[in-house]
Amino acid sequence: MLTIDFLGAAGTVTGSKYSITYGHRHLLVDCGMFQGEPELVERNRESWPFPARDYDALLLTHAHIDHSGAIPKFVADGFDGPILCTEPTIELCELLLPDSAKIMRLEGDPLFSEEHAQQALQLMEGCRYYKQYEVFPGVGVTFLDAGHILGSAWLELEFDPLPEWPEQRPIRVVFSGDLGRGLSPLLAPPDRPDRADFLILESTYGGRLHSRVSATSQLREAVERVQRRRSTLVIPAFAVQRSQDIAYLFESLGVGNISLYVDSPMAARAIRVFERYPDYLSQKAGQLLNEYDQLLRYPHLRVCETSDQSRAILNFRPPRVIVSASGMAEGGRVLHHLRHHLPDARSLILLAGYQCEGTRGWQLQCGDPYLDIDGRSVPVRAEVESLDGLSGHADYAEITDWLSELERPPLATFLVHGDEESLQAQQHRLSRWGWRVEVPEHRQRFELMARSRD
Ligand SMILES: [Zn+2]
Repeated sequence: MLTIDFLGAAGTVTGSKYSITYGHRHLLVDCGMFQGEPELVERNRESWPFPARDYDALLLTHAHIDHSGAIPKFVADGFDGPILCTEPTIELCELLLPDSAKIMRLEGDPLFSEEHAQQALQLMEGCRYYKQYEVFPGVGVTFLDAGHILGSAWLELEFDPLPEWPEQRPIRVVFSGDLGRGLSPLLAPPDRPDRADFLILESTYGGRLHSRVSATSQLREAVERVQRRRSTLVIPAFAVQRSQDIAYLFESLGVGNISLYVDSPMAARAIRVFERYPDYLSQKAGQLLNEYDQLLRYPHLRVCETSDQSRAILNFRPPRVIVSASGMAEGGRVLHHLRHHLPDARSLILLAGYQCEGTRGWQLQCGDPYLDIDGRSVPVRAEVESLDGLSGHADYAEITDWLSELERPPLATFLVHGDEESLQAQQHRLSRWGWRVEVPEHRQRFELMARSRD
């Protein structure tokens, strides 16, 4: 028996979570939190298809909360096996998981405690790219570079044949995790798979192409605009990866001496994680880091870790650039900057990543004239644009490239991590190639080896 249960990111973009049963043993791939709409968040309390303590291992593609955020819940429910992931993923989880527990406690609706988050971190075992690790007898996993965030991986799982399988050969199952675009200034482009019997493929941008304008030129143009107006550019950005990408790009922009503030304690700590892993960066970024011992070398950069440093930003006159979390403006210090700058028509807001439906970032993207912040209705007079070039997710043309080295089509491809429109577009495209494509429903189970028989 080789079955897969789609426990998350099925028909939606959050909650990535797949339960695999091999013979009588169970393993989980990713254990993400559902985010966004209340009926999705409700799914965070659903039961596991098998008791959590019966799982032998958990494999984690990367540290983002929609892939890792429910791990402490899994641990609270009884899981105590090894969690295999890359070394930077462990360090980023050390920042993200306790923080997520704290936010839930403050919001009064905790799924797990800070102790459970600490227990989960204790179970993590660091793996390197390109080396096969035994998950348990009969199952191996290799982590390959997904180029999405620091330490992100796609997974190659190799299952030895079980006696009842019709074909006595190993079966390879590939989980794409989240795939980067190959354009991050800090990361190497994603490695590509050469063989997959079954493929679980992300489809965040399954129906769309990113603009081909480079992030560098878009960012330079935005900075020049606020320089001319002597105003403020606010970039809501994820504290991990996007904030570092942006700050790293500034050195090469040639925009004079405009002040750049990275205002996020999490981003500040994440910079130090990046600096410990030159081997996980793009060749150029890794070389520069080894040479200068410092990742971000723009001379007018101020990283604001304390709240005093954060408050001081407004004491300095514009023009200025403020990069602050959270990336979808759902919380964090960026709210304070938005409240201050949205009513000013000279300000520019640059949204720097995927904006989930229902979030403040999404409302801004849609052109809402008012934004609710801390119970106050703030008028949106500032210009709002999207910085497309730094998206962490490959678009459909980039996914096509990623698939281009496969020797032959997989026996079946399962599309996950996309909204309905993206999933359908991707299904349509792959079906035209003659591929067998499934769009799993939430909690749908598939028997993989039954598929290869017909
Ligand atoms: Zn991700």
